[in-house]
Amino acid sequence: MGDTTYDAVVVGAGPNGLVAANHLVDAGWSVLLLEAQPDAGGAVRSADDVHEGYVHDTFSSFYPLALASPVIGHLHLEDHGLRWQHAPAVLGHRTPDGRWALLHRDRTVTAAIVDELHPGDGEAWLDLCAAWDKIGDDLVGALMTPFPPVRHGAALLARLRSAGGLDLVRLLLTPAADVGRQLFGGVGPGLLIAGNAAHADIPLDATGSGLMGILMTMLGQTVGFPVPEGGAGELAGAMARRFTSLGGELRTSTEVTSIEVSSGRAVAVRTAGGERFAARRAVLADVLASRLYGGLVDVEDLPGQTVKAMKRFQLDPGTVKVDWALDAPVPWSTPPPYAPGTVHVGDSVTELAEASGQIAAGAVPAKPFLLVGQMTTSDPTRSPIGTEALWAYTHVPQRVGYDAGDDGLRGTWDHDERERFANRMQARIEALAPGFGDRIRARRVLGPHELQARDANLEGGAINGGTSALHQQLVFRPIPGNGRAETPVHGLYLASASAHPGGGVHGAPGMNAARAAVAHARADPRVRAGWWPGRRR
Ligand SMILES: Cc1cc2nc3c(=O)[nH]c(=O)nc-3n(C[C@H](O)[C@H](O)[C@H](O)COP(=O)(O)OP(=O)(O)OC[C@H]3O[C@@H](n4cnc5c(N)ncnc54)[C@H](O)[C@@H]3O)c2cc1C
Repeated sequence: MGDTTYDAVVVGAGPNGLVAANHLVDAGWSVLLLEAQPDAGGAVRSADDVHEGYVHDTFSSFYPLALASPVIGHLHLEDHGLRWQHAPAVLGHRTPDGRWALLHRDRTVTAAIVDELHPGDGEAWLDLCAAWDKIGDDLVGALMTPFPPVRHGAALLARLRSAGGLDLVRLLLTPAADVGRQLFGGVGPGLLIAGNAAHADIPLDATGSGLMGILMTMLGQTVGFPVPEGGAGELAGAMARRFTSLGGELRTSTEVTSIEVSSGRAVAVRTAGGERFAARRAVLADVLASRLYGGLVDVEDLPGQTVKAMKRFQLDPGTVKVDWALDAPVPWSTPPPYAPGTVHVGDSVTELAEASGQIAAGAVPAKPFLLVGQMTTSDPTRSPIGTEALWAYTHVPQRVGYDAGDDGLRGTWDHDERERFANRMQARIEALAPGFGDRIRARRVLGPHELQARDANLEGGAINGGTSALHQQLVFRPIPGNGRAETPVHGLYLASASAHPGGGVHGAPGMNAARAAVAHARADPRVRAGWWPGRRR
């Protein structure tokens, strides 16, 4: 055996690949982590490439899921340089009458704000928080472990009774567009919940969206929407530093082009540069499922059923992201009482639902729902004092049928279409903050092609490794009958957001894959001994 044999090879250094690689070195394995891009991090990276002196997160920014995740917590990344920062308020949504629905980390402050918008809503807010206190930890635990979640599932069932019983279950199954109406008299809390649901691509009038909205809102309430000091890349950097400090080997600018299978087992990977790295025990793929089963593993090495089922694998919608370097903060016409890190832009829950319906129907939304990040407000190190590093993103259909707006966009997302759509997005901010455009020093627009060029998992600008809709969740993720990290190839594990429980920076798919690999190696004496009765091709 030469130096190019490892216990495990991990393909892709996104957050899931990094979590998996860390867990495997913790288990005492020799691990090689291969990353196609020049830097580790996947969709967790940042750079000063929009304007000098400004750090912009290239993709993701806010990490409530990472802070709530036992998997990432277990890595103690603070010991490797990570420092979290919080904006004065977590999240804001300006109501049409010019007031702000705000989520503050102090629940009594949030309650006071929503109560001022509509008397009585403060108490209803605190009731929702109290129910969450009883089930939140187990719900998060159940989501982050392989399906079925035996331990957390049982604990959750036991606690549900005291948290509201069937009424609470019903609420969690209610579509996001209706949750606010059912619990509150005013529009503020419903806007916060519906906007949070729109972070995933489940239509707001479908079951599953309410659970997503409540989950993200209550995480915002309990852990905040933290950001890494210095940029998203600092989170990935801390994971990479931990991994290499424990003896793991990370190679960037190294694209894996195939996974070699022998006698039904993954035994090695090959790179675009012609190198071959053998894996004694496991290959873990932090790779989009359609790419893993659609090129990396030879179709001859896959059961026909898998190949057939993958034809129905559904990506989530595409994304257009705009980054701005501003020479002053956003001039909101009515400033919020506490400056939020995240801002949602949409006139009403009905409008949000309309935009999500348009995307599902193949239309470019006329009034796109914007997720906005005020990054210097969240972390003062992101740009010079008195300025703002800002971004906004929104979703567009993977296949555009028509433009519900006036620009006749066809979904080519070439330079011209990107700029025109970015103008549509910018106009939404300008309407709430007159004079916004005058504060722009630089603007960068990343469309579906640019996102994919920077991270192959973001195919067509899909940010979640496949739709989060119910028909592709749990045992249906990525294809029916799966729901776990194991693949039809022995020793090969799906470790990306295409695996249960899906997108977001929480590390669960990576951890599930690493745990499965370690458990199988322990159980199988041939793997434990680093021997498998296959021949190298
Ligand atoms: C614009 C945007 C905003 C987002 N905002 C948030 C947010 O605020 N909070 C949040 O929690 N989540 C957010 N997300 C989602 C989150 O970033 C992803 O769900 C998460 O990064 C998925 O992690 P991953 O490790 O599965 O994949 P990725 O992060 O996509 O990483 C995959 C890595 O594998 C590499 N790779 C792929 N194929 C190969 C190959 N053949 N050889 C070698 N390397 C390969 C890629 O280059 C990449 O580095 C956002 C995503 C985007 C795009």
